[in-house]
Amino acid sequence: MLTTGPRGTKDILPDSSGHWQYVEKIIREVCHNFAYQEIRTPVFEHTELFLRGIGDTTDIVEKEMYTFTDRAKRSITLRPENTASAVRSYLENKLYSGPQPTKLFYIGPMFRYDRPQAGRYRQFHQFGIEAIGAEGPAIDAEVISLAVAFLNKLGLSDLKLLINSVGCPQCRPVYRAKLQEFFQDKRAHLCSDCQSRYDRNPMRILDCKNETCAKYSQGAPHMLDCLCEECGSHFAGLQELLTAAGISFVINPRLVRGLDYYTKTAFEIQYSPLGAQSAVCGGGRYDGLIAECGGQPTPGIGFAIGIERVLLALEKQALLPSINTAIDVFVAPLGTEARAVAFQLLTELRYAGIAADMDFMNRSLKAQMKYANKYPAKFVALIGEDELAAQKVMVKNMDTGSQELIARTALVPMILEEMEK
Ligand SMILES: [Zn+2]
Ligand SMILES: [Zn+2]
Repeated sequence: MLTTGPRGTKDILPDSSGHWQYVEKIIREVCHNFAYQEIRTPVFEHTELFLRGIGDTTDIVEKEMYTFTDRAKRSITLRPENTASAVRSYLENKLYSGPQPTKLFYIGPMFRYDRPQAGRYRQFHQFGIEAIGAEGPAIDAEVISLAVAFLNKLGLSDLKLLINSVGCPQCRPVYRAKLQEFFQDKRAHLCSDCQSRYDRNPMRILDCKNETCAKYSQGAPHMLDCLCEECGSHFAGLQELLTAAGISFVINPRLVRGLDYYTKTAFEIQYSPLGAQSAVCGGGRYDGLIAECGGQPTPGIGFAIGIERVLLALEKQALLPSINTAIDVFVAPLGTEARAVAFQLLTELRYAGIAADMDFMNRSLKAQMKYANKYPAKFVALIGEDELAAQKVMVKNMDTGSQELIARTALVPMILEEMEK
């Protein structure tokens, strides 16, 4: 137990943390381009928020939440996603009183007690955005465009954007009744989850992964045929904007989001080289959520992207950059007496903003030179007996092999000058 992490968790080690930093850097650049600002909410919230905000008939809430009672007997849940928390924060901090829409992005760990499988963890990471306060289709198009821009910037170009409309509280009941009618005589053949979905949320039968359910849902009526006038023109408006922006899409009437609060636009971006786990981004409009959480009725839309999934795709396509561990100077003392001077020089270099390191293992000269090449280091500053006595340092350029004996005090200015080149 002491040397094994909990099931479904994974350490991000130094040999890959640079890849995470790279993806996070692209996220920040793209969000800045689209004028979204970062929000950081706590990793735990009152359980009630997720019961309300995600819907207690969803798999997440029914089976996958990390819920516990704290010492004051409050029910606390580790966030399984970030939308409900963002909405809670939007209401608590009255973000609606600023200029609208409120455009937020987040990066961070989420927690679901899921069956661990390839690329899926119980602590996993998401990048997502939320645009709260705008109701027209233009913000939907912007949100989708941001997701596409992010994935394209990483070099993932073989993307497939699927869109659908899941209607609104006016038109969805009509569709729901039609679906129940369609499944009425097929109900007994569906999986046990879908049998209970039949009454509570029949739309979710359409995205059941069970093969039998998929077979029996063939020919089911489409939400798109039942949209009210408002939902219909919203969906048409979205298509028009995406087309104008040159973002290609496919309408997939079977795309229903697993969460109850979604309205109108639902979308997914697939990256087919990932095979069975090809969905890298899922999102949609949630016009019912803010009122559900106790606020004034306010429209909102967002998406979430699994960072592990994105990294897997980048790795498959050899799109991950090499991790830069290079330093400017490696300080190499020879003998015990040179060590104090070496440490002094090392400190001066670092305080001057120069990336530097030194030998801490009493290596031989040969081993130190070899070690310096591992970073690699651009320069090695050697301090042997002669250099020590003369208050000098031998600077070796590791690219050219040339050496120069200089005064100790000249080292920092010399390196700074080299860095300017
Ligand atoms: Zn509608
Ligand atoms: Zn099913």
